Amino acid sequence: MTSLLTPLAKHQIPPAQPTRTPEAPPPPAHIIALRHVNKTYENGAPALVDINLKLNKGSFLFITGPSGAGKSTLLKLLYGQEKLTTGQIHVNGQEISSLKGNQLAMLRRRIGVIFQDYKLIPRRTVAENVAFVLHAQGYSRQEIDRRLPLTLKMVGLQGKEDRFPSQLSGGEQQRASIARAVVGTPPLLLADEPTGNLDEDNARQVFNILRRLNGIGITVVVTTHNELMVRSLNYPVIQIRNHRLHHIR
Ligand code: ADP
Repeated sequence: MTSLLTPLAKHQIPPAQPTRTPEAPPPPAHIIALRHVNKTYENGAPALVDINLKLNKGSFLFITGPSGAGKSTLLKLLYGQEKLTTGQIHVNGQEISSLKGNQLAMLRRRIGVIFQDYKLIPRRTVAENVAFVLHAQGYSRQEIDRRLPLTLKMVGLQGKEDRFPSQLSGGEQQRASIARAVVGTPPLLLADEPTGNLDEDNARQVFNILRRLNGIGITVVVTTHNELMVRSLNYPVIQIRNHRLHHIR
């Protein structure tokens, strides 16, 4: 059988190593880029007006602003739950509105999302809630068994694998939902008001986990009303006010 790697004769100059190939374009510098994005819901309610935003890979961004300003809508546009009305959104180098069903599903697999109300499956244990995502993505049993304990340890839920959500505190439920969001190591984590139902102590624990995830290279975008955290953590802050974006810090 002929090898694909033919050895070079002594006198041959090895070909220059291409820095990039057509199959592997350079990764985009911005993991998120929005250009003149407008979103108006079907009932005519404007939710976002002319939003422009670029976010580098590995950033941590706070989104603040009053209720009804458009924060959740912005996250929903990023993970493709809502469609924009006009403008352009690139996430991880892909223009979201041009993606067909399956392509959008593939992109969404690369985005972890957590919510204020956790959205765990009540009749499944912590381990099942977290492993479910990996099963759905076709991971092998062996890989699931490797990732599960590491991820649960990272969020401090080792020993609670077999509990059902109703047997966990709010803080623990949110940590289980973080485990579910990141067990597939997505490059991007979106958190919509993740500490809205938690006391200060649990909120701090959740933010510490988010910071650790950011420390290993995951881009984290958090909408929050938790001013204490926004003030004490020195990350960039944008505000959505009257459906428009303002840079705060
Ligand atoms: P925030 O997250 O800042 O509280 P939202 O993004 O949830 O704000 O909402 C922004 C605006 O869009 C609000 O006026 C809200 O009533 C409206 N809105 C949100 N979701 C829908 C929807 N599914 N249909 C119609 N209007 C919506």
